[in-house]
Amino acid sequence: MKNRVWLSVDTDDFQYLPDVQGHKSRSNGKNFDSENYYPSDSLIRGFSGFCLWMRTNDFPVTIFVIASQLENDKFREMLAEIIEDFPDRITLGCHGYSHRSWSSFEPDVERFVSMLEKSNEIISAFDSHRYRKWFRAPSGYIAPWMAKPLKKAGFVVDSSINPSFIMNYKYGSSNYKQTMTAINQSGLIERSWKCKNGLPVCGPALFKFPLSVNSRNAWRNAGEIIPREQVIDEVESNKQIDTFYWHILDFSRNDGTWVPQF
Ligand SMILES: [Zn+2]
Repeated sequence: MKNRVWLSVDTDDFQYLPDVQGHKSRSNGKNFDSENYYPSDSLIRGFSGFCLWMRTNDFPVTIFVIASQLENDKFREMLAEIIEDFPDRITLGCHGYSHRSWSSFEPDVERFVSMLEKSNEIISAFDSHRYRKWFRAPSGYIAPWMAKPLKKAGFVVDSSINPSFIMNYKYGSSNYKQTMTAINQSGLIERSWKCKNGLPVCGPALFKFPLSVNSRNAWRNAGEIIPREQVIDEVESNKQIDTFYWHILDFSRNDGTWVPQF
């Protein structure tokens, strides 16, 4: 029998991408300037596409928010509109404060915890009713040292692990199995990303040939989407579920016509 499915999107915008900022080796050296952040035209278009797509189905979706985006009025307005339109179908999670790729730097527990606390405050102040202490690591990689601080900051679920054999090199000396062990030991629940044939099918894999072929196949053959009233209990349980994720920015693809195919 197929596992039931949990859907989530991340709110990444171009300015936050690791090529630009927040990654030890991949960034061009700039630091993120949250005071001057304004949503890109693509993200604005992505939100419209997301909203249109939501009208065509009844699926609940968790939105992993980069907390510093909420310091911008336009972003707040777009997120508030989605929540107003679909009040029972949205939950919020945390995608860091500035999308810093913590796993690419030396462990820094103190700063990581204070970033998590700050993010918790911002997202709770925005919508404490919909915010769950669910975390997705920026840039998609979580290191073992990050598990305990997450627990300490009140998180109950992590959804950062890509359990694909081709991703092992990204974790350096600690492959995803070590991270999984650290997360299990910390008491967090891990909701790792859906894989098929040992290959990733979420996020960037959706658009990178030939991974995209395998991905589309996995999405079309996904199990039943968990009904809205059961999402929180199911994600926070120890039941097996399939975690699918993509980006709100994706809805700006193909002139704003892209939609996920379940
Ligand atoms: Zn991201």
